[in-house]
Amino acid sequence: MTKSNILTDTFGRKHNYLRISLTERCNLRCTYCMPADGIQLSPKDHLMTYEEIYTIAKEFVSMGVTKIRLTGGEPLIRKDAALIMEKLSSLPVQLTLTTNGVIVDKFIDHFKKCGIKTLNVSLDSLDTQKNKEITRRSYFEKVYQNIILLVKEGFLVKVNCVLMKGFNDDEVIDFINLSKNLPVHVRFIEFMPFDGNQWNMERLVSLQEILSKVHSNFEKNDIVKLQDAPNDTTKSYQIKGYQGTFAIISSVTNPFCDGCNRIRLTANGQIKNCLFSSKESDLLTKLRAGESIIPIIQNAVQTKFKVRNGMDTLEKFNQSDMHSNNRSMIAIGG
Ligand code: SAM
Ligand code: SF4
Repeated sequence: MTKSNILTDTFGRKHNYLRISLTERCNLRCTYCMPADGIQLSPKDHLMTYEEIYTIAKEFVSMGVTKIRLTGGEPLIRKDAALIMEKLSSLPVQLTLTTNGVIVDKFIDHFKKCGIKTLNVSLDSLDTQKNKEITRRSYFEKVYQNIILLVKEGFLVKVNCVLMKGFNDDEVIDFINLSKNLPVHVRFIEFMPFDGNQWNMERLVSLQEILSKVHSNFEKNDIVKLQDAPNDTTKSYQIKGYQGTFAIISSVTNPFCDGCNRIRLTANGQIKNCLFSSKESDLLTKLRAGESIIPIIQNAVQTKFKVRNGMDTLEKFNQSDMHSNNRSMIAIGG
């Protein structure tokens, strides 16, 4: 196998998009992500240093990775986050990040310096009180203002909103209307099951339910279906005349595994070949032992399932024990 096809799996999917989690910690406590009693954090010396992150990323780039997303936990609370961004920006990749937006205002110049042009910012409610309830913290105003600041500073902002029935599903239209005068890209994410997040199918707001809300609120001719790129996880739309767009990420009811090009690296240096896989491959130990990490990467890619770690039907996916061996989302890096 040549270096250039190590990242191609047995179904012909080329994994050119690496998502690196910088930390398991966060300044918010979103109920769907972080269990109520927290998580067991990895000991500090089990976490990748910035040099190790750079070395691993460089290896992935030499195998064909062209896009790197920094995530977490909250990537920006890591003390050396700025340094990591700077190091990675020297690689020939599109560098981006997913953040809860609380402290992005402190990094505006740094993002520009590192060539970061797009950011995903999480915001699950446009109501201060509901936001407090879901994040278990009070930063709504800060995040909202930071989204506006990012737009003003010329960044492309994708607003990630996890929908949950009876909680924020009544805000679908408000979120779409946010894109009327603000050129943001709102993405509704189906609530996904991870360890400790009390997922059940009844709380999920499906692609079909979201679309039916859209159709009962807007004229058919005003709802424009946009073209999605081959590896996009989204189904994108725009309301005629609106500056921004909206999209739906339907990992549960309509998985997009066929076009999956993502591979994940956790903050403690484990490869995950799928968000829903409990299996991990320990890159960091190999790296620290001075051995090649390529065989580990190759094995992780070659053993990737066709659909959601083998949960190819909704029935299989709906069994809670299928998810209990997996990490909580906060420790995976979404
Ligand atoms: N702290 C950053 C943030 O909140 O954007 C980055 C990490 S967070 C784990 C990455 C993304 O995963 C966020 O957009 C969050 O909404 C999403 N996420 C977390 N738990 C989820 C779940 N159970 N179902 C769907 N999306 C989830
Ligand atoms: Fe933190 Fe992001 Fe998880 Fe919320 S979704 S707890 S902001 S890592």
